Amino acid sequence: MTSAVEAVVVGAGHNGLVAACHLARAGLRVEVVERDEVLGGAVSTVERWPGVRVDRGSSAHVIIRHSGVVEELELERFGLRYVDCDPWGFAPAPRPGDPGPDGRPLVFSVDLDATCASIAAACGESDARAYRRFVQVWGPRSAAVVRAFGDRPTMGRLVRHLWPVGAPRAGQPRTPGGEIATDFLGSGDALLDRWFGSERLKAALAWFGAQSGPPMSEPGTAAMVAWVALLHEVPPGHPVGGSGGLTQALAARLAADGGRVTLGDGAARLLVDGPPDARRIAGVETTSGRRITAPVVVAACHVLATRELAGDDAPPALADADPPVGNGFGLVLRALTDALPAYPGATAAESLQGLQLLCTDRAQLARAHGDWLAGELPREPVPLAMSFSASDPTLAPPGQHVVTIWGQWYPYTLADGSDWDAVADTAAAQLVRAVDRFAPGFADSVQRLHVQTPLSLERELGLRRGNVMHVEMGLASMFGFRPTPALAGHRVPGLAGLYLAGASTHPGGGVSGNSGRTAARLVLADRRPAARLRAEVGRRFRAARR
Ligand SMILES: Cc1cc2nc3c(=O)[nH]c(=O)nc-3n(C[C@H](O)[C@H](O)[C@H](O)COP(=O)(O)OP(=O)(O)OC[C@H]3O[C@@H](n4cnc5c(N)ncnc54)[C@H](O)[C@@H]3O)c2cc1C
Repeated sequence: MTSAVEAVVVGAGHNGLVAACHLARAGLRVEVVERDEVLGGAVSTVERWPGVRVDRGSSAHVIIRHSGVVEELELERFGLRYVDCDPWGFAPAPRPGDPGPDGRPLVFSVDLDATCASIAAACGESDARAYRRFVQVWGPRSAAVVRAFGDRPTMGRLVRHLWPVGAPRAGQPRTPGGEIATDFLGSGDALLDRWFGSERLKAALAWFGAQSGPPMSEPGTAAMVAWVALLHEVPPGHPVGGSGGLTQALAARLAADGGRVTLGDGAARLLVDGPPDARRIAGVETTSGRRITAPVVVAACHVLATRELAGDDAPPALADADPPVGNGFGLVLRALTDALPAYPGATAAESLQGLQLLCTDRAQLARAHGDWLAGELPREPVPLAMSFSASDPTLAPPGQHVVTIWGQWYPYTLADGSDWDAVADTAAAQLVRAVDRFAPGFADSVQRLHVQTPLSLERELGLRRGNVMHVEMGLASMFGFRPTPALAGHRVPGLAGLYLAGASTHPGGGVSGNSGRTAARLVLADRRPAARLRAEVGRRFRAARR
């Protein structure tokens, strides 16, 4: 069977759906093909146990709440409702009950005054003052990063977004460019050491920053820590009904604009035609043998999946693409419990709304990362817990709760050759115990446990080597280097009509929608007559030179 549309999107992850929505809104006939039976890729929610809604991937939406994607596509009209995570961060006291500062938890709220009061009580006045100033200095810088994330990653555009952050502000003179550059290129740990004295505060912020993958000792990770400055304006959110509320709303928006999503019939290969010097996309063939012809394909799946779909038609830029996929990342537990985690010395309102950053010293992170480097399971796992059923009763029946526990770092390939299916239960039990150390009684509250290892994430969600960000988020694979320098422009040189989106591309993983929107904007720009003329002149010029 053959059908024709104006654009095919491969992959119904949130980036693919964002791309499709923008194209359909511009009047194009669009079909999204998805290999999975579930919509949304790593932004999806399923009924894991009767009446219990459990996310398959992401749970806390951070970047998308700053990207403008939700507002531009009016997703609230299509059913998306976010619950603000406020307080957005909680780090337990190292000695709950202690009358001194070590008995007090750290609570990060949208309200900066309240946050500083919490820091003052747990870490002292000096760190509270430093934190206030940190938010003032890094707020505009992180906002510039948000703008750069929403744009193509060319050097010119990057400079245009980042240049204004040095402007004189609040009575302070211009910050020299070199100072800003070294701040951004430095590590998160170095940034924290420059600003703060208390190890507890540094540990909580480093654990937040490390959620992107690289350890905060790595160059270029400062901005991952400094993202917190933005959370005093808009906190992370979780959609009512689970993370998949976002992709459901995107699909509804797409349908309203005439687009369609086909689940369970993914792309098997890209259709390509044209002479050798002017190869161009002609559509896709799906696994069921359907041929969908289209002059545009947006591949919003893993870039290595795109390479396979192109097969022998992959031009060198794609055929040779070998981005750093890494060696696994997180171990995720989805626990059905009969109680919420209870942290001594902290109220439920303080501790259960956002990210429970269960780490009190960066040495814990360093050890876990060191074990990962050696290809081993962490001897002392560091957990991050989220319990959104505390604020969303639609997730579980009364008296029950869903608690997600994210443990980092867990290698995909274990140095001793162990099989993940054999070690999963032991690793899971150890991670549960790590939460129980901070929230006594948690282990006993667990009724059912769904374990997602790096291997099972690859199997279920197509995340190569269990990397939830598709490609590593280190400095050498961000911006104009993502997924590779040759493919960083969202177009594929040598194969006209093929565009790349998704976490493999700028600005990387996490729930943001940025790359889907950028790819769609490029498609639309390339359809304008002037752009088509430019492309044709360029092609003839190259042919004449050969
Ligand atoms: C367990 C876990 C927890 C996470 N937690 C968070 C979090 O709390 N906050 C956060 O911001 N981020 C989080 N992330 C990361 C974030 O969810 C992802 O980086 C992001 O959702 C990637 O979205 P995407 O649309 O780019 O790609 P994906 O979601 O990977 O979507 C790609 C889609 O392409 C499909 N596909 C692949 N091959 C084909 C084919 N041949 N034909 C058709 N379709 C195909 C796949 O099935 C998939 O649906 C988490 C991820 C995981 C897995």
